[in-house]
Amino acid sequence: MFKRIKEYISENKGILIRLDDIAENMNWDLMEKSEVLFDKYKIKPVLGVIPNNKDSELLSYPKKNNFWDIVRGWQNKGWKISMHGLNHVYDKDTKRNDYFGYGGRSEFCGHTLDTQIDRIKEGLNIFKKERIVIETFFAPNHTYDKNTFNALKKFGINEVIDGYGLMPYKEMEIKFIPQLFYKVYALPFGIQATQIHLNYWEDKDFQDFENFIRKNQNNFICYEDALKKINNGIHYRFLNGLTKTILKSKRAILNFKS
Ligand SMILES: [Zn+2]
Repeated sequence: MFKRIKEYISENKGILIRLDDIAENMNWDLMEKSEVLFDKYKIKPVLGVIPNNKDSELLSYPKKNNFWDIVRGWQNKGWKISMHGLNHVYDKDTKRNDYFGYGGRSEFCGHTLDTQIDRIKEGLNIFKKERIVIETFFAPNHTYDKNTFNALKKFGINEVIDGYGLMPYKEMEIKFIPQLFYKVYALPFGIQATQIHLNYWEDKDFQDFENFIRKNQNNFICYEDALKKINNGIHYRFLNGLTKTILKSKRAILNFKS
C-alpha cells in the first residue's frame, strides 16, 4: 500500500500561489513586482480579493482608484479571483469553535446564518457589478462554521481555498484546496496553496519569494488544475486523514495570519 501511495504522491505534486488581502489599499509596489514575476514564469495565482475593505490596518496602504480595472485585467490573464470576506473586519470571537479549530477572531464564524448570507450576498453583488466571476472563497483568518459553508452553497459557491491535507478534497459538498503554511514553503509532495501577504513584506521577503519561484518554477499549477486533483479513492482519503491528524497535533508550528 505504501509504495502505491508514494507513486500516487509523486504524480500529484504542485504549488498553487494564493495571495491574500488584495484590496484597493495595499502594497502596490510589491504587487506590481509580483505581477512581473508571475508573467515571467507563466504562473497563474489565485487572488483573495476583499470586495469592500474596511480593515483599518489595510486602509493605511496606498489606494488605487482604478482597482476594479486592474482586477478585470488579472481575470483576463486567466488569474483566479477568489472572494476573501466582505469587509475583512473581525467582529466575533470563534471561541475555538471554528471548523478547522484554529481559533481567533472572525468575520463569519459565530454569526447567524442570515448574517453570513447577507455578507456573502453583499460581496458577490460587488463582484457582479464589477464583472468579476466568483467561484471560490476563503475567509479572513481561516475561520468558518457550518453556516459559512451553507451560506456559500446557497449562492452556488462550493470551492474553498483552506483546510488540512496534502491534497484537495471534498467534504460537505465543498471542494477544499488545503492551505497550510504562512510562509512560502514547498512540500516535497502534495498539492498545496501558499498563503502570501505582500502587505507585510520587506524587500528581503520579496527576494526570497523570487528565489522560491525560480527554484520551484516547474511545480506551479493553476487553480483549475489543483481542483482536478480531487478524488475520493481509498489511498487518497487515507493520506488526507493521516495528514489532518498529524498537522492538527503540530498546529503550533503553523504560523497563521490572515
Ligand atoms: Zn486576509
